[in-house]
Amino acid sequence: MKTTYDIVKEIRCNTFVAGGGVAGSSAAIASARGGAKTILCEMGGTLGGQAGIGLVTPLSSVTSKSRIPFGGLVKEIVDETSRLTEKYVIDDESFGTAYNISPHILKYVLLKMASDAGVNVRFHTVLCDAETENGRIKSVIIKDKSGYTRVIADTYIDATGDADLVYLSEDNYVLGSESGIYDKLMGANLDKVHSDGGKSEKYHSDNLMQPVSLFFVMRGVDYEKASSLNNKNLYFGDLGITKERFEKWEFCGTPGFEIQSDFVPMPQNRVLMTRGRHSDEAVINMSRVININGADGDDLSRGEVICQLQLIAIVDFLKTFIPGFEKSYLVESSSRLGVRETRRLVGKYKLSGLDLINGSSFPDTVACGYYMIDIHDPQGKRNAIGGDLEMDYFEIPYRSLCSEKYNNLLVCGRCISCDHIAHSATRIQGCCITTGNAVGVASALTAKEGIAPCDLSPDSLRESLKKDGIFVGNNKK
Ligand SMILES: Cc1cc2nc3c(=O)[nH]c(=O)nc-3n(C[C@H](O)[C@H](O)[C@H](O)COP(=O)(O)OP(=O)(O)OC[C@H]3O[C@@H](n4cnc5c(N)ncnc54)[C@H](O)[C@@H]3O)c2cc1C
Repeated sequence: MKTTYDIVKEIRCNTFVAGGGVAGSSAAIASARGGAKTILCEMGGTLGGQAGIGLVTPLSSVTSKSRIPFGGLVKEIVDETSRLTEKYVIDDESFGTAYNISPHILKYVLLKMASDAGVNVRFHTVLCDAETENGRIKSVIIKDKSGYTRVIADTYIDATGDADLVYLSEDNYVLGSESGIYDKLMGANLDKVHSDGGKSEKYHSDNLMQPVSLFFVMRGVDYEKASSLNNKNLYFGDLGITKERFEKWEFCGTPGFEIQSDFVPMPQNRVLMTRGRHSDEAVINMSRVININGADGDDLSRGEVICQLQLIAIVDFLKTFIPGFEKSYLVESSSRLGVRETRRLVGKYKLSGLDLINGSSFPDTVACGYYMIDIHDPQGKRNAIGGDLEMDYFEIPYRSLCSEKYNNLLVCGRCISCDHIAHSATRIQGCCITTGNAVGVASALTAKEGIAPCDLSPDSLRESLKKDGIFVGNNKK
């Protein structure tokens, strides 16, 4: 507890979840469905977090590489969101399946599922502090328009992405990349760089975080034409322009567009987009700012400023220089900076990049994921470091979701206990949902059994998850 508060009321529940992103929403839904009285506190006005407010609509890690469905909430959320996206959002029947889910529909689906399950959703409410005693979190302090409220729960779940509750309760955490992680990458033969731009420098990003970006959406795009340049580093010649012509472009010199070599300067060093919900729609992920700590107030604001100033420059860049964007127009942009990496709990087990690469199996696996190792270079020298995994999927043990210090504190989503390398894959949305699903079920089980969640037998949790149709690993190789 960092200060004293003028408390206006006190409320009790079995499960308190901080953060209503995909992870926290899933945790709250699973907890309430399991019969636990559940409060979900979200500082914004919608559910979905990065996926909703941040417009990060590619929802990856829903099945294994060989298409084993991970099941449970990740399947339910994706199926329902896709169904309603096709019904209400897609206007071009010939276009068929949605390539990206709609953030507007996702927000609705999460809220409907939470409401139906009986979750007490408290919007515009910030988690401010935590009180601890004897190896437990005793209560948390939340703040809304009415003032400060004390919440007393059996289980506390940190789904803030930035591990705010871990930080406020003075639990152990790591910020960004651990020292010496590069040697581990080398040991694992992970120095394979995709879409690199010809840089072959060693990867030294000790104690740095992946860059931040801001998503936006454009329509009127000839996607087939434009996609020939997607995900490529470009020389001026590739665009049929000279450096001199680029220097005369109105936005040349905007942060990220400063000329340094014969490469066309762009904040991400490349055109980067995915297909949207309509045949002429592109979801653009091209802004980038390095050296931003999204868990620091000054940095967070600075990152927002730079990304928002980059936005119009990128729109103009695409329209001016990239074939296929000539008739395009901006339709929406995120109003929340996209933060990839900040704090993570150091819990009972720190899942490592090597665990993912080697396909480690655990007796207490409660969630699975599949995604490549995808570290956007914290120094911005190259695009992304990593590559595809040989394994069909990776496993996440319950211990990586449990605090070592407090036996009633669980984490899910972006801030689970893992290293910088593993995090580059576990931060992906499908994985955030599966870890949320697991801790929500764990909290409901322990509310019934009257024990602390970190003392729960992983076997009974795994059995319960399996009954819900959730894939919890197969001890495969
Ligand atoms: C630029 C970018 C591109 C990405 N691309 C992909 C992709 O292609 N595919 C993919 O699957 N994933 C992608 N991701 C990753 C993915 O979007 C996120 O890692 C994931 O959505 C995180 O979910 P979460 O629920 O853990 O956290 P968040 O979505 O960050 O949710 C946390 C929630 O907690 C709330 N909160 C925070 N602090 C407090 C507090 N103190 N009190 C109350 N509420 C609080 C926030 O408002 C937020 O709603 C990308 C991420 C970024 C930034």
